[in-house]
Amino acid sequence: MTSFFPGDARSGGTQSLRVAVVGAGIAGLTAAYRLKQTGFEVVVLERQASVGGRMTLRIENNIEYNTGARLVYSFSKDLLTLMNRLGLTSNILPVEQTNTAIRCNGVDHPAHFTPGPGILASPFVKLRHIPALMRMSVELLGRQFHRNPNDLAAGHLPDDQTMVEYLEMRGLATIGRFLLEPVFRGTRGWRLQDVSPAFFVSTSAAMLRARPLNFKDGIGMLANRLAQQNKVVTGVEVTDIARVNNTDPDGCTITYRTAGETLQFRADIVVVAVEGSLAANIIRNPSPEESRWFSAIRYNSGGVLHYQLNKQLPATLRFYGPGENELISIFEIRPGPDASIHVLFHLSPEGVQRATEQGLEHDIERLLQGILPEIVVENRQHICSRFDQWIPNYLPISYPGYVAALREFRQRQSVNPGRCYYAGDYMAQALTGGACRSGKLTADTIIDHWGKS
Ligand SMILES: Cc1cc2nc3c(=O)[nH]c(=O)nc-3n(C[C@H](O)[C@H](O)[C@H](O)COP(=O)(O)OP(=O)(O)OC[C@H]3O[C@@H](n4cnc5c(N)ncnc54)[C@H](O)[C@@H]3O)c2cc1C
Repeated sequence: MTSFFPGDARSGGTQSLRVAVVGAGIAGLTAAYRLKQTGFEVVVLERQASVGGRMTLRIENNIEYNTGARLVYSFSKDLLTLMNRLGLTSNILPVEQTNTAIRCNGVDHPAHFTPGPGILASPFVKLRHIPALMRMSVELLGRQFHRNPNDLAAGHLPDDQTMVEYLEMRGLATIGRFLLEPVFRGTRGWRLQDVSPAFFVSTSAAMLRARPLNFKDGIGMLANRLAQQNKVVTGVEVTDIARVNNTDPDGCTITYRTAGETLQFRADIVVVAVEGSLAANIIRNPSPEESRWFSAIRYNSGGVLHYQLNKQLPATLRFYGPGENELISIFEIRPGPDASIHVLFHLSPEGVQRATEQGLEHDIERLLQGILPEIVVENRQHICSRFDQWIPNYLPISYPGYVAALREFRQRQSVNPGRCYYAGDYMAQALTGGACRSGKLTADTIIDHWGKS
């Protein structure tokens, strides 16, 4: 038995409760920070070589890329409060949105990260849609104070139909197809027929007034700063968490792999802050409630093909509308370092499915052979580097019925003291703000159940 804690409570060392947080994404790091501030002894274990999970930057083949999130929204209250508490507010920058459009029938129509009255100028909005749009706006704005855009479990949300059905019932199917679905497919990898309206309804009123934000030192800065406040051990993959029962006085035995060795240690409490679809793999003897919840969690996958070009091209972000490109949902040109240019293609949900079927998850260029937009073909001699990014657990999918299952599990977690607690975007909302909120709520629940350590 090894230990990540300096003194062992059982052998007369520290008397603080020892918490192991598994996963150094924004959810795990937020929970760890809050618990440590309250007096718990905390260690965070991360299987990657660096922290941040799906909210950081990494470099591969000389190309700097986002592991996930590119921006945070000004409605991400818990996340911005945390930034403030860490003295990082001056690091927050508004994101400049340049040359963003949805391409439909070969024509580019201006689009925005956040919706607004500009939608009325879209050629897809006909006079007959305006009353339906007005009604939906009133409906969404009317209940906004009863919802939290960072938390699907807060407030009443429609959860018993698909987004397609929701829009059809409101006479807005065409607007959904041409204006909403390209953005959902591009930024979330979701098809409207697969998700309930819960994400849309919980976020849209807040989105109207939201500002997209980034950090001066890059999106990974918050995770890095949180990691400095905690003991974090990277390169450690947890493979098993065993409890005798929820009130076992010996806490949990955690098995982990590091540098080719399999080792164990004990903690009083574990916060499981891995991607939701991976939680079931590491929990030994889950309770019936945990098993039910694990089987309710679904994540999609994602793929991005990155090129670095040594040629100047104008910054561009294109969402592909229906029928534009079956396998690609976004085409983007971003200025890169040293006057280079970063060109990205995000796989559409169908592209992800095709990649999986053909075993081309790590050869996205081959998958897209013959259908890559001309910009790549014309500039092939300027390509200096390429990287195929596969994201096995991209985002949790809030399909019809998910919110009800989430509410039930969250309620159980908040009232029943246990040894294992869960945090992550799937426990609140599929956004950085949701993951951060979940980390905070989970830490508050532990503090409530176990007292200030
Ligand atoms: C492509 C993409 C674009 C996105 N864009 C945005 C956006 O613009 N704005 C926004 O707000 N949100 C966006 N999101 C969503 C946002 O990034 C996530 O919701 C959020 O970062 C999830 O944080 P988390 O802590 O729940 O999970 P993660 O960040 O995934 O953290 C889980 C951690 O657990 C670790 N782990 C897993 N298994 C083990 C194990 N067995 N042992 C040890 N460690 C383990 C993982 O390595 C990882 O570091 C995007 C996501 C993706 C993928």
